[in-house]
Amino acid sequence: MAKYTGPVCRLCRREGAKLYLKGDRCYSDKCSFTGRSFAPGQHGAGQTRKKVSEYGIQLREKQKTRRIYGVLERQFRNYFEKAERQKGITGVNLLVMLERRLDNVVYRIGLAESRNQARQLVRHGLINVNGRRVDIPSFLVKADSVVAVREESKESPIMKKIAESLGHKQAPAWIELTAADMSGKVTRYPTREEIDIPIQEHLIVELYSR
Ligand code: SF4
Repeated sequence: MAKYTGPVCRLCRREGAKLYLKGDRCYSDKCSFTGRSFAPGQHGAGQTRKKVSEYGIQLREKQKTRRIYGVLERQFRNYFEKAERQKGITGVNLLVMLERRLDNVVYRIGLAESRNQARQLVRHGLINVNGRRVDIPSFLVKADSVVAVREESKESPIMKKIAESLGHKQAPAWIELTAADMSGKVTRYPTREEIDIPIQEHLIVELYSR
């Protein structure tokens, strides 16, 4: 599946769930999601709810997860295959790996308002990992790594704006935020309970196990 470049709120309507793709707006009353579970652009007869097959439910769960993290199909499949080879529960391994992506860690620290914005910051070379610039959003951050805004990037208008709000943000328990330094240390990997996305990952495992 090609990268989606249209309005992101349509994706929430398509999936019938909030995917939190627009940062703070998603948590405000500006969010346009109404809870309708039919795809955008459908009217009249198109709004009739059809019985969804087991396969369809599993597929939507996978698509929802892909869209939340902004991962293309091939890469998502690779994550799944790696997760399967790891010890533990495959579905949880998969989510932990997605959480370890550099763009997600930047977002979780609070250095971006959305994963999409975090991806741009990484691609534009504004982010360091352990003191070295990393411009690959899919880079997997290891425990004990420090992710920070590069010193020379802190003066950019976008980073100044983010710095103002960073002091009021709270990073998840597995990240130690140092707001003054615009950095966060990944002290450990998150547990499933700490990953606050509305996903039933076992459905993804079932889908790929068909
Ligand atoms: Fe989805 Fe956020 Fe748009 Fe609401 S504001 S529909 S949660 S992307």
